[in-house]
Amino acid sequence: MSFIQGYAVHAAGAELLPFKYDPGQLNPYDVEVRISHCGVCHSDAHLIDNDWGISQYPLIPGHEIVGMVSAVGSAVVGLELGTRVGIGWQANSCGRCEWCRKGEENLCASAQPTCVHRHGGFAEAIRVNSRFAIPLPEALESDTAAPLLCAGITVYSPLRSLGINPASRVGIIGLGGLGHLALQFARVFGAEVTAISTSAAKEQEARELGAHHFVNSRESKAIKELAGSFDLIISTITADLDWASFVQTLRPHGSLCFVGAPDKPISVPGFPLISVQRSVCGSNTGSPGRIAEMLDVAARHNVRARIESFRMSDANQALGKLRKGQLRYRAVLGN
Ligand code: NAP
Ligand code: ZN
Repeated sequence: MSFIQGYAVHAAGAELLPFKYDPGQLNPYDVEVRISHCGVCHSDAHLIDNDWGISQYPLIPGHEIVGMVSAVGSAVVGLELGTRVGIGWQANSCGRCEWCRKGEENLCASAQPTCVHRHGGFAEAIRVNSRFAIPLPEALESDTAAPLLCAGITVYSPLRSLGINPASRVGIIGLGGLGHLALQFARVFGAEVTAISTSAAKEQEARELGAHHFVNSRESKAIKELAGSFDLIISTITADLDWASFVQTLRPHGSLCFVGAPDKPISVPGFPLISVQRSVCGSNTGSPGRIAEMLDVAARHNVRARIESFRMSDANQALGKLRKGQLRYRAVLGN
């Protein structure tokens, strides 16, 4: 069995170093994928730093993966050698629980994230359960499609689940990897879209990506003026904002949906939720079925990540730019 070469960190917050591991025998239900591209998600930085207390070292990050199927386990059906596939946050699930049976594998209590207690996509290859390797539509380029596998599905899912349509008004907080795709998908769903950002320099591009309006998230007066505006706000940031004011920006039945987890507990008063039936919720990536749908929508409606390309060997440089908030809008590593 040959080794898989990649880049791993050996301790919380450390630099990535070349690292190889023996993947062992190919599991009957797994495929091996030769990686061509892998996006750099902010969750990779959280995992490297052990922000969530779940990291195990050495750790090869990377869960926005595109590549070609290079080996197929004996029990795999529906995937062939040479098929171009994408792999996101999840590499396996139990396949038997209520949620797996409903096609909501991302909610499975035994879900296996791609780079938690397994090695991820900053590497030449990866193995995952074949149900989590999703064929890519031909119209998508591998590099600009890679970020769809985590950032894309994470913002597509709440738009889809919460019924966004041409009558809807949607606000997107934070224009990074997730947020710049959220603007595009919200526009595809037909919504009136407001970008809510700390970076005035992103206004022009936000409008090109689909925003009708642009608001500075730090200007409390501007946020207060948005009272009763939105059916859905998706927050992609980890900073703590005045969430009580953001709840007031929701229309009746509106939702404030967190996909980025704020550092501090989310503090909102109860009465504005009760009075016009607003909600505060969270959303976690998406199932393989939902990812396949999102990729098809992206292909047909021209949703593409705006990327900065790096060689896989320059992954530390890409992470450095991500941590400094200097990327427009996603780093993608290529082999
Ligand atoms: P990113 O590319 O670094 O973008 C984050 C954005 O947050 C920045 O571009 C910036 O946008 C905004 N921001 C940064 N500092 C801020 C501050 N102090 N106050 C207000 N806004 C600030 O990160 P990402 O890859 O999009 O990921 C965002 C978060 O989502 C991460 O925490 C990640 O772990 C999480 N995530 C969750 C899921 C899920 O399933 N729920 C999936 C993937 C990622 P502006 O310049 O526009 O202000
Ligand atoms: Zn991610």
